[in-house]
Amino acid sequence: ENEEAQKVLEAHQWLSKLYHHLLKHTKEGKEGLDYLLERGFTEEMIDRFQLGYAPNSKDFVVRFLEKKGYHPQLMVKAGLLSSNDSGEYSDRFRGRVIFPIRNHLGKTVAFGGRAIHDQEPKYLNSPETELFRKGKLLYNFDLARSAIRKQGSIILFEGYIDVIAAYQAGVYNGVGTLGTSITEHQANLIRRYVEEAVICYDGDAPGIEASMKAARLLKGSGCTVKLARLPDGMDPDDYIKSHGADKFRREVLEASDTYLAFIMRHLKKQYNLNLEGDRIAYVERVVKEIAGLDHAIEREHYLKELANEFELSLDTLKEEVSAHRSQNG
Ligand code: ATP
Ligand code: MN
Ligand code: MN
Ligand code: MN
Repeated sequence: ENEEAQKVLEAHQWLSKLYHHLLKHTKEGKEGLDYLLERGFTEEMIDRFQLGYAPNSKDFVVRFLEKKGYHPQLMVKAGLLSSNDSGEYSDRFRGRVIFPIRNHLGKTVAFGGRAIHDQEPKYLNSPETELFRKGKLLYNFDLARSAIRKQGSIILFEGYIDVIAAYQAGVYNGVGTLGTSITEHQANLIRRYVEEAVICYDGDAPGIEASMKAARLLKGSGCTVKLARLPDGMDPDDYIKSHGADKFRREVLEASDTYLAFIMRHLKKQYNLNLEGDRIAYVERVVKEIAGLDHAIEREHYLKELANEFELSLDTLKEEVSAHRSQNG
């Protein structure tokens, strides 16, 4: 129902304010505040992103929402409370740092809660609801929109922490895809706003796999895609914390690879190029990728590179590419 959706939206705004207040002004919330400050976030970012703290209580939020007049059953449906078999309600987020997840209009429609100690799971997010479809929302799009337009480029991060760390480092056109996968819907949404997308996912195996998948989806939507490279096992937040904002902008974002350069670098790690069989398999794999590129100039550029590196004739490689292209219509 429309009225229910309105209530759920309202409850999220109240709760977002409450969590933020608890983080900043209460003894209990100090644990959350210290956690964020220790991770290097400034008060300014904590305010701008309305970061908060969910108290380690069974029913603090239950009582708060009840007092505000929200029906607990509806709040369970909204993902703000839990309920058990005997019909008792309890707080869903407990003893966690809270990241409000805003929609494109700047309204909070979900929460992400990060454990402070080694509580499991590390992240507890709101479930999907009518207001919150993970595959349709880009975290921070509301704040980033004007910078995206102005710079003609959007940067994609995996996590909200990375988005905020980048923002603090002066990178204002970043959004989060909330986990590692991007959907076709998100790719189309991005293309409607901007041509260039820079993928800056974590420098681990799932991050690299997800980068390639996102790159293909974005290319399919008509975006020009670049891929940032992070040292093994580091994510953008780690990198900024250990190397600083300037180096992040210069050596990660500005030095990002084209799609093919990224693929080549990645494939090279999977083959032993000292072995003839591997060399042939590698070249075939790369040629196939080149055949999939839209622009003839781009194809020529990489074919030349490949021909030089492996001492192959450019004509032969071109023939291969033509064969692939006629196969795929
Ligand atoms: P931190 O630096 O605090 O460890 P992170 O952002 O590096 O956090 P990752 O494990 O890289 O964490 O996850 C990236 C993003 O994926 C998170 O911001 C979160 O949105 C999502 N995510 C990770 N784990 C979960 C989970 N268990 N449930 C839901 N979402 C998750
Ligand atoms: Mn990750
Ligand atoms: Mn990460
Ligand atoms: Mn991280």
